[in-house]
Amino acid sequence: MSKMQEIAKLMRELEDQLVVCMRCGLCQAACPVFEQTGREADVARGKLALLDGLMQEMFSDPRGVYERLNRCLLCGSCAANCPSGVDVLAIFMKARAILTGYMGLSATKKILLRGMLVHPKTFDRLAQWGAKFQQVFTRPVNDLLGTSCARFVAPLLSERHFVPLAKTPFHSQTPALNTDAGESGLKVAFFVGCLIDKIFPRVAEAAIQVLSHHGVGIYLPEAQGCCGIPAASSGDTDTFKRLVEYNLDLFEAERFDYLVTACATCTSTIREIWPVLMGNEPKDAVADVKRISEKTLDIHQLLVSKVGLKNLSRSATATPLSVTYHDPCHLKKALGVATEPRAVLEASPGYHLKEMHQPDACCGMGGSFNLQYYEISSEIGKQKRDNIKASGADVVATGCPACMLQISDVLSRSKDRLAVKHPIEIYAEGLNR
Ligand code: SF4
Ligand code: SF4
Repeated sequence: MSKMQEIAKLMRELEDQLVVCMRCGLCQAACPVFEQTGREADVARGKLALLDGLMQEMFSDPRGVYERLNRCLLCGSCAANCPSGVDVLAIFMKARAILTGYMGLSATKKILLRGMLVHPKTFDRLAQWGAKFQQVFTRPVNDLLGTSCARFVAPLLSERHFVPLAKTPFHSQTPALNTDAGESGLKVAFFVGCLIDKIFPRVAEAAIQVLSHHGVGIYLPEAQGCCGIPAASSGDTDTFKRLVEYNLDLFEAERFDYLVTACATCTSTIREIWPVLMGNEPKDAVADVKRISEKTLDIHQLLVSKVGLKNLSRSATATPLSVTYHDPCHLKKALGVATEPRAVLEASPGYHLKEMHQPDACCGMGGSFNLQYYEISSEIGKQKRDNIKASGADVVATGCPACMLQISDVLSRSKDRLAVKHPIEIYAEGLNR
């Protein structure tokens, strides 16, 4: 299908989906961006109204439409609150694809997405160079959170406190695995994801340890690619499709029961976005995507509903640590996964769960939203930080590495000393006691 045919088809699909919106405005109360800015254009209703006239607007002010569409965390809070069941995220993704198809990609995004992300080995090499030289530009600020900040004035880093690139990414520690199903009778393919591989390899190590402990066979193919979400949210369907096809080839090479990830964003991308943006591909590709996306599970879901958590021996620690849990939007709002990560934490010896106020309120990360609108993103993050602190917990856990980054940033900037962990890490600690 040519680019113009693809745009026209997406446009027709968009029109069909837009009529479902009743303009009731109930999404307003749920939108974290609207809460900060109070602008109707930032809420789903405002964006959908804008897209209703997309055909005309595309010729008069495509850049303006694109920018207004980009002021969105893609958190799905609006969709979760919508009484009419408007598939807001699918609409936003298609609209971004239409606009980028019409205007083309910016030079920076071309370099990042088409020069780097789409070539997994090049991306790995560049990240390894970055890890080697990052100390020249950054300095550590919080040893417990493992955060750093810029040494000099750097517009891209601004005031951020970020978790730096790991010295040894996960793919260098464990390039590949292929083990048989053990006592669980299950074999899974493990999709690592870029943030876990390059920033939080300890989460992947914990996941492998936990899966092996439960007798789950693991297929971990070498040179995994990105799930494609940075390309999809930039409207770059060409890069997105290349990454999906690359991953399909890699994972189709082996038989397994489930594809498992420890990253909320990767899970929801494979389950929800792959079928939406690959829907107009040839029949075989659509069938391949459907097959793999339907058997993709978040790691907590796999452990709780397919494997069964074990009663790990309780530690003799006199005072267990309290842990509060933040629901990543891509787990709870996108996939309805909320009880399973809590069950994993409850089963972890040495910890007890202490809920925070509004655990499912968005943390404000939103991927590229944080890069483009850092101030709004931080204001949303500060509300999350205040709720975490008010819970009085010793540790905050969340099932998404992007949320881990955002929560580490807001805690570190206010000099708080609270560890940020993935529930799987906490559960794995129990195996080592
Ligand atoms: S997206 Fe849903 S909640 Fe928002 S205005 Fe439309 S129908 Fe109402
Ligand atoms: S996805 Fe989130 S940020 Fe975007 S319009 Fe919906 S509620 Fe607002």
